[in-house]
Amino acid sequence: MKVYKVAYLGSDNEVVLALEAALSKAGMPFVSAIGDQAGVKKALEFDADIVLWDLDNNPQGKPVPLEQIRKAGLVRQPVAVVVSKDNTEGIIQSLAAGAVDFVYKPVKDDPFPRIIAALNAGQKQRRIDWYKGVIEDTNKQLHGILSTLKDPAYVVTPEYQILYMNRAAEEIFGEGLRGGACFHLFYDRTDPCEICAKSKGSVRWRAVLKNGKSYRFISALIRNERGEVEKIAVGTDVTPDEEVRKIHKTFISNVSHDLRTPLAAIDQYVNIMMDGLAGELTDEQKQYLGVIKRSSFRLGNIVENLIDANNVLSGHFKLKMQVLTIEEIFSIVMDRLHSQADDKGITVQVQIPDDLPRIYADKARIAQVLANIAGNSIKFTEQGMIQIRAGFMPRDEGRLIISVEDTGIGIPKEDLGKIFELFYRVENDNVYVEEGAGLGLAVSREIVRAHGGTLWAESLEGTGSAFHIALPVHKELQSTE
Ligand code: ADP
Repeated sequence: MKVYKVAYLGSDNEVVLALEAALSKAGMPFVSAIGDQAGVKKALEFDADIVLWDLDNNPQGKPVPLEQIRKAGLVRQPVAVVVSKDNTEGIIQSLAAGAVDFVYKPVKDDPFPRIIAALNAGQKQRRIDWYKGVIEDTNKQLHGILSTLKDPAYVVTPEYQILYMNRAAEEIFGEGLRGGACFHLFYDRTDPCEICAKSKGSVRWRAVLKNGKSYRFISALIRNERGEVEKIAVGTDVTPDEEVRKIHKTFISNVSHDLRTPLAAIDQYVNIMMDGLAGELTDEQKQYLGVIKRSSFRLGNIVENLIDANNVLSGHFKLKMQVLTIEEIFSIVMDRLHSQADDKGITVQVQIPDDLPRIYADKARIAQVLANIAGNSIKFTEQGMIQIRAGFMPRDEGRLIISVEDTGIGIPKEDLGKIFELFYRVENDNVYVEEGAGLGLAVSREIVRAHGGTLWAESLEGTGSAFHIALPVHKELQSTE
């Protein structure tokens, strides 16, 4: 039989004598020491296999200080408490604190079988702890992998409660949905999907999501570190648009660069003529040249926007990051937005609470995103108002949310996800909207993503739209303020 080394930490001489007698009979090495730091050290040096902790070491009503014992170095040893029979409360608390078993004192009967039982229980506990650790690590890795996926993935409880969504899923459905029911929030249903409700294992299904795209989903059961079952679902976009996107990008790049040169020539020769270097001009000729100059200036702006959009969408851009208040960003764009809204006779309301944390962001780029989104709201609203709100959401390490809501034409459900695609514009026969190339939202989403944030939209056709920008809060400042 294997020989186990037993350490008793306590000052009850009767216990020491009884244990010594019983254990030497069984051939088990035994050491005793006072239940303090030095005692723990002694048990460590003795290389004990089990520790018997006398509850009399502790002040009345306190359980075994398992955490301190572990910290002091006795990491692997199961700890059983030695306790008088009437101290039921002490036993319960100690077991709850992590003790594996208890031995009654005075130690009259042979304590040996109880010590062996405690050793076995300790080994079992260690195996469970190890499995828990493995599960926890695996789940962390899994969440890490899911967060990098371009396609939506989420984790739910067996009761369909959303526990986790990766960024791609948040971009489709929105942030802050944790705790809600997946069938309701993701699939617009009042009851769980039959296929999911019936199956106890892996399930496959296809669905058209809120962004109008088709996905093939596969789900599997996983177990969390508390042993509870969770369901993980990962979707694959089966809408074939990646190739088209590539062609778009190459096209913009070629066309925009090719346009720059002739535009520069037009500008240069218009200037020469306006300066009279090619001969005297009549007033009428000057007026026509003015029109040419303004038009080529506008065209130049469009081309520069196209080039910038292409750089952003190909990832060829650098962020000039700094710690910012939300007001600093708003101050850049608000004048322009107010005057755009005034021209259309609609109002823009802004609500920013005083105590918002700061963000770490590129001021000009985030202002560009806000200008795009609020600009769209103004463009697509004929009456009513635009509300711009900022707020704090305590998720992850803190998110700042900027929401732009309008009472405009809204976006049909089947177009809602596609509006973030390059060149996508909703076709609406009833509404005439002059400007726009379908670039703003694609560029905005890329900029927000580069900041580690999320940009998503909600809308009801004919009623209005809401766009939300979630950005991570600047961490150090968040914890010190
Ligand atoms: P555009 O330059 O056409 O505005 P965007 O990428 O900014 O390009 O937007 C793409 C399309 O999304 C728009 O053409 C419009 O159809 C739709 N859209 C964006 N914002 C709104 C809004 N607030 N209300 C209604 N439709 C919108």
